[in-house]
Amino acid sequence: MIYADNAATTKLDSEAFEAMVPWLLDEYGNASQPYAFARKPKKALAEARAIIAECINALPEEIFFTSGGTESDNWAIKGSAFADAEKRATITSAFEHHAVLHSCEAIERLGYPVSYLMPTADGVITADALGGMISNTTRLVSVMFANNEIGTIQPIKELCDVAHSHGALFHSDAVQAVGHVKIDVQELGVDMLSASAHKFNGPKGIGFLYIRKGTKIMPYADGGAQESQYRSGTENIASIVGMVIALKENCTNLERNKALLQSLEHKLLEDLSTSHIQFVRNGGNHTIPGLISLSFSGADGEAILHRMDLMGISISTGSACNSVNTKISHVLKAIKLDETLAKGTIRISFGKNNTEDDVCAIATALVKIACTF
Ligand code: PLP
Repeated sequence: MIYADNAATTKLDSEAFEAMVPWLLDEYGNASQPYAFARKPKKALAEARAIIAECINALPEEIFFTSGGTESDNWAIKGSAFADAEKRATITSAFEHHAVLHSCEAIERLGYPVSYLMPTADGVITADALGGMISNTTRLVSVMFANNEIGTIQPIKELCDVAHSHGALFHSDAVQAVGHVKIDVQELGVDMLSASAHKFNGPKGIGFLYIRKGTKIMPYADGGAQESQYRSGTENIASIVGMVIALKENCTNLERNKALLQSLEHKLLEDLSTSHIQFVRNGGNHTIPGLISLSFSGADGEAILHRMDLMGISISTGSACNSVNTKISHVLKAIKLDETLAKGTIRISFGKNNTEDDVCAIATALVKIACTF
C-alpha cells in the first residue's frame, strides 16, 4: 500500500504515540484538580503550551487547545464576528476550507456581512484584491496560509498589513502549513492562526488556535475555567502531549523534510514529463512542500482515484471532504480552471514517510492510466 494523501491526514509519529500512552493509562488525573495526582498533567499542559508557543514565536498564554482545525476556524470566525456590535463585516477568500466557508455562511445567516476574495489563476489572494474590498466596517479578514487542494502559499504578511491598516483583525487557517513551513506569528503579524495535529503527524481530534494577547473574541465554549475560560472542557492531555511531540519533531526537521518532499515532487513531475503524458500542474511553484495538484484534460479525477486505489495507491481528487463528490471543487472553480481540466484533477500529497520507490510506483500507475484516456 502506498499512501500519498498526506494533506488529508498523516501517520502518527511513533514517538508521539509512545509519549501519549502514560497519560491515558497511568497519569490520567484531571489537570484542574488541586491534589497531588493532578500535578503532573497540569505541568504537562503548561509545558505543552510553552513548546507550541516557542514553535510559532508566540506567548504560552496565546495558545488555546481545541479539537482541531474545524473548531479553531469556527472559533476565529464566529468568535470575532460576535465580539463587536459596531464593526460587523468579515472578508474571506472563495477557496478556503469548508470549516471557514461554512462558518462564514453561518454568520451571514445571522445578519453579519461576508465578502469573498477571488484568487488569481495561480491560486493566490493578492494584497491589491484585499485593498479593493476592505473598509472601515471590516472586523476580520480570514485567508488561509496554504490551500489544501492546490497547495498555494498566500502572502500572509502583506494581507495582514492591509487588514491592520483598516483596523481589522487577521486570521489565517494554517492547518496545511503548521509543521511544514516556518511560521512566526510576530513576523507575519497575524492575530489568530488555526492548526491541527493530524496534519503534522500528531493525533486526530486535537489542535490549537493562536490568539494574540488583547484580541477581542468571544469564548468558544462556556463551562469550567479551562483555557482561561475561553474554551471550557477537561483537557485532553494525552493528545496535547502527542501533538507537541509531533510538532517539535517536525519543526526541528523542517528543512530536511522540505528537501525530501521537494525532491519527491520534482521526481514525480520529471517521471511524468519524460513519459510524455499530457498534464497541467495547478497552483504554480510556490506551494506547500509535497502537495501536487495535477489535471488531465478530458479525464475523470474520480476514475483515476479508483484505478489508483485498485493498484494499492491512496491519492485524492481534491480535499478529503470532497472526495465522495464528483462536482468540481470550489477551489478549482475559484481559480477558474477550465472544466475539462478541473474534472480530471487529482491531488497527490507526499509526507515524510514516502520514498522514491513510492514516486516510481505512482508515476508508473499514472502513465498506465493516462494511456487509456
Ligand atoms: N482547514 C484546512 C485548510 C484543512 O485542510 C482541514 C482539513 O482537511 C481543516 C481546516 C479541518 O481540520 P480538522 O480535520 O482538524 O478539523
